[in-house]
Amino acid sequence: MTLDEILEEIKNANNIVLLTHETPDGDAIGSSLGMKIALEKLGKNADIIITKYANMYSFLPRCEEIKTQSNIKNYDLAISLDCATLKRLDNSEYFENAKKTIVIDHHGSNTMYGDINYVNPVSPACAEILLAIFSYFKIDVDVEIGTCLMTGIITDTGGLQYPSTTADTFEYAAEMLRKGVNISDICKKTLQTQTKSSFELSKRAIDRIELLEDEKVAFTYITNKDFKDVNAEEGDHEGIVNIGREIQGVEISIFIRQKEDEEEYKVSMRSNTEKINVSDICLVFGGGGHPRAAGATVKGNVEQVKEKIMTVVDKYLNR
Ligand code: AMP
Ligand code: MN
Ligand code: MN
Repeated sequence: MTLDEILEEIKNANNIVLLTHETPDGDAIGSSLGMKIALEKLGKNADIIITKYANMYSFLPRCEEIKTQSNIKNYDLAISLDCATLKRLDNSEYFENAKKTIVIDHHGSNTMYGDINYVNPVSPACAEILLAIFSYFKIDVDVEIGTCLMTGIITDTGGLQYPSTTADTFEYAAEMLRKGVNISDICKKTLQTQTKSSFELSKRAIDRIELLEDEKVAFTYITNKDFKDVNAEEGDHEGIVNIGREIQGVEISIFIRQKEDEEEYKVSMRSNTEKINVSDICLVFGGGGHPRAAGATVKGNVEQVKEKIMTVVDKYLNR
């Protein structure tokens, strides 16, 4: 059984590194911190290495221990959390140089790039997979671990609302609530609070929303100039893609934002319907994700990127 092998590798390792995807979200950071604290309960210290993350997650227990680099080059064990491909893994050199590697994830598009891969594409969050694993390992999930993992679940399910949410998710949430995890506070801090810069970015994005394909597609964008104008920081674009999906009749919401390399845009896509799998659409551009939420990186200016995406979207809408 894979989980026994994972436990064996953890027990055999003297040093462990935890890695996750670039521009980490609540599931990425929550899973990493939850895993770090759980490993301590097995008597193991682990380093989390994340280049940068949004300030909104600074309420998470032990986040001050997150490192941006490490002196250890060849870890005994590297564990990748919530990341579909090696390309998207932040600080992937630590993964590539590790003696043993494990991938734990919930993306259907996962490429199984670890020595051991534990991927459950029907799980709504990597954090929920960890809850199941910790239960199997008989690790006591305390309030700290629970807060980290519920943050992952809440951010990936939009507050237990997306169709990916299962009966298990509610059962885990109930169990965590009983343990003292403040679910309402997590929702408030991650889903119902935005920085002023983020609010200003949203205003610009709303102004530019175009409804395409018989108003079935909402499209909008943000440039580096916008980021600069409003003094935006890491994570301030978070949530903009959801604005378009709330418009009646919209089946796909598309939000693109300019990357540091001016010639490239990060595409975020959300589907409102079972009929359209945006992960398949993003796969065409070398990206991926989940049926209802996916992303990719596409080269060009706004018009060129829009054109490229809409050619593929048109095919999926009119099949
Ligand atoms: P985002 O639109 O960035 O919030 O991403 C939505 C979902 O798609 C998340 O689960 C991401 O992990 C996944 N995703 C985003 N971009 C990519 C990519 N380039 N390759 C694979 N998965 C991605
Ligand atoms: Mn994620
Ligand atoms: Mn996730």
